[in-house]
Amino acid sequence: MKICAAVRWILCASVVLTISGARAETDAELLARAHAIHDRVITIDTHVDIPPDFSTDAYDMMKPGPRGQQVHLPTLSSGGLDAPFLIVFVEQGERTTAGCAKALADAFVKFAAIHKLTEQLYPDKIELAVSAADVRRIHAAGKKVALIGMENGFSMGKDLRLLDQFHDYGARYFGLVHNGHNDLADSAQPDKKRNEPASEWNGISPLGKQVGKRLNELGIMVDVSHSSDKATHDILAASKAPVIASHSGVKGVYDHPRNLSDENLEGIKRSGGVVQIIAFDTYLHTQTPEKAEAIKALSQEMGMKTRDDMLKMTADQSKAYDARMAEIDKMWPKANVRDYVDHIDYAVRKIGVDHVGISSDFNGGGGIDGWSNAGETFNVTLELVKRGYSEGDIAKIWGGNLLRVMEQVQKLAIKQKTP
Ligand SMILES: [Zn+2]
Repeated sequence: MKICAAVRWILCASVVLTISGARAETDAELLARAHAIHDRVITIDTHVDIPPDFSTDAYDMMKPGPRGQQVHLPTLSSGGLDAPFLIVFVEQGERTTAGCAKALADAFVKFAAIHKLTEQLYPDKIELAVSAADVRRIHAAGKKVALIGMENGFSMGKDLRLLDQFHDYGARYFGLVHNGHNDLADSAQPDKKRNEPASEWNGISPLGKQVGKRLNELGIMVDVSHSSDKATHDILAASKAPVIASHSGVKGVYDHPRNLSDENLEGIKRSGGVVQIIAFDTYLHTQTPEKAEAIKALSQEMGMKTRDDMLKMTADQSKAYDARMAEIDKMWPKANVRDYVDHIDYAVRKIGVDHVGISSDFNGGGGIDGWSNAGETFNVTLELVKRGYSEGDIAKIWGGNLLRVMEQVQKLAIKQKTP
């Protein structure tokens, strides 16, 4: 029996011995190491959408509901996702006084819902951070961290003073534009329904330039995601502080209007900023026109005209929609975590590990095979570990870089305000 055991040991050992004699890691050991790293690093996701009825019974962060929302406090815990940026997003509406007023009101509803979450509903579980130091303190105290990002500068209309108010409410990044051009900048995706030209401002507008300056002064990170290539270039040229792309992919892997060109990746690096790679199926890999048509037809059939329509679906609608989407995904598979990390790898090779981070776009169309909700967040770390990233690199990618940028942007703001 002893000989058998010895032979077994030798056979086993031969499997895990490398040529150099060092023992290679087994799959179980790699998994355990990845779990340990995932537990130790602060994981920040810079883009999680919330619907207008966030923090009501329709979307209670403690109660995973039937509506297919992808982020809840229990899943943040089980998935080891520490700090989501919750997004004050507004749809691009008519650029009229009434349209702007509606957008501002919609933005205030979302700000209020986030403050209700952290101050009234679950202050013992999640707290709002307005600085990198806050993020570290709240995380060390064992709570989840909420941060606020704004998507679509349409919410400020043409009133620059509102930026101060947004800052007071906790906004720490601000994206000038969404789908469709606005008064601040050209969008990466002009609104076809409004017959918009490819460009309205040839980049950013004079007002957009003033917005960038004021954001720098306030210490709010400027976000180029959704901006056209030229607008991104203009923002990078104008900003005196590091710039972020809060949720974008890279054109070098898949050429999509929402992804960053090599030139703009370099610009973000030069600014000292960070690109937060997005887990959004259609930006990560080639999508067949047939799949796009099938999704469009399904959305039309179910009356889902806007993203907020999607987020406000009833339980029954959501169930029906998910079932139909599952059929579509079966025919044309979604991107997976490997496809996702291909974009991270590319950005790291191009601009270095100090300038790359992570975002899901959960509740806003994001979510891929293997990272389809907050509960599956570990899979991203596992893939990074499999590809040879060190713990130090993973800590940077998962949040260290973003915190560095946030700190620098706020330091510069203080300098600009103090003569
Ligand atoms: Zn977006």
